[in-house]
Amino acid sequence: MASDTYYGAIEAGGTKFVCAVGAGPHAVDAQIRIPTTTPSETFQAVVDFFRSHTAGRRLDAIGIASFGPIDLNPGSETYGYITSTPKPGWKNANFVGTIRNAFDVPIGFDTDVNGAVLAEHKWGAAQDVNSAVYYTIGTGIGGGGIANGQLLHGLMHPEMGHMRLKISDDEVDGFNGACPYHGNCFEGLASGPAMQARWQTPAEQLPIGHPAWTLEAGYIAQAMVNTACILSPERIILGGGVMQQEHLFPMVHKQFMDTMQGYIASVSSAAAVENYIVAPGMGDLVGLGAGFALAEAALLI
Ligand code: ADP
Ligand code: ZN
Repeated sequence: MASDTYYGAIEAGGTKFVCAVGAGPHAVDAQIRIPTTTPSETFQAVVDFFRSHTAGRRLDAIGIASFGPIDLNPGSETYGYITSTPKPGWKNANFVGTIRNAFDVPIGFDTDVNGAVLAEHKWGAAQDVNSAVYYTIGTGIGGGGIANGQLLHGLMHPEMGHMRLKISDDEVDGFNGACPYHGNCFEGLASGPAMQARWQTPAEQLPIGHPAWTLEAGYIAQAMVNTACILSPERIILGGGVMQQEHLFPMVHKQFMDTMQGYIASVSSAAAVENYIVAPGMGDLVGLGAGFALAEAALLI
């Protein structure tokens, strides 16, 4: 890839969009945060930013790492749309079409977490492997993956945050999970809002040592065992607001080992598990990295 290639990157979240222009996540020339309001207002702000910050240069490609669910089927009439989101006003928003009307360049479009795992593969904690999964544990829980270096797509895109989990024997009395669709799926039991609903306290205010964290680590570990058994990724990366609580990692590692019982030999030692379930190598750059990785991939197609 020529080093003078110039990209637009969009990290599209339900609360805010972060956009950047530059040669990559470590060579950003300009960046902006845009509150997620209506689709038309938000998309217009993205277009205005790209128009005014490219300094006469042409963008070679744009990458969009988006909240979902999204339509990724190239043969579909609604390719590039945000589909069944409960977010008011965003159902059936034509994301790629709107950006393409303004910029006739290759556009990479995928979920935020598929973008994130691609970015971690290029620049972060999954550079030494060809299969990996990235989870964000925040307002929602999402998971993306690569196998043989390629993003996982199929019926749509993975929805790993909605895998069903067994409710813990130590669960708070009467709490059945907060997902409006499934109750006790991973997101319903372990997202930030699930923690808030269970403990009536925002996750960031729960002190280290609170039973909330043992329960949380148990659910994350359960999901990681499922992930390791189903997809056999060589690395699992855990990001998102809740994982800012670094003390969760050793707790997840321990409960992962307790549940797995040494069944998968390559991740049966403490040292191996520490190197298996890890924090994002790109740190806070992973969100924009997702946009850049998808832009780069769009150019290579
Ligand atoms: P989003 O998912 O909206 O992109 P985040 O990944 O920051 O944003 O997730 C926000 C959720 O994570 C909220 O439910 C919040 O309570 C929780 N959260 C954010 N920061 C922390 C923290 N330091 N510790 C624990 N929970 C956090
Ligand atoms: Zn669910």
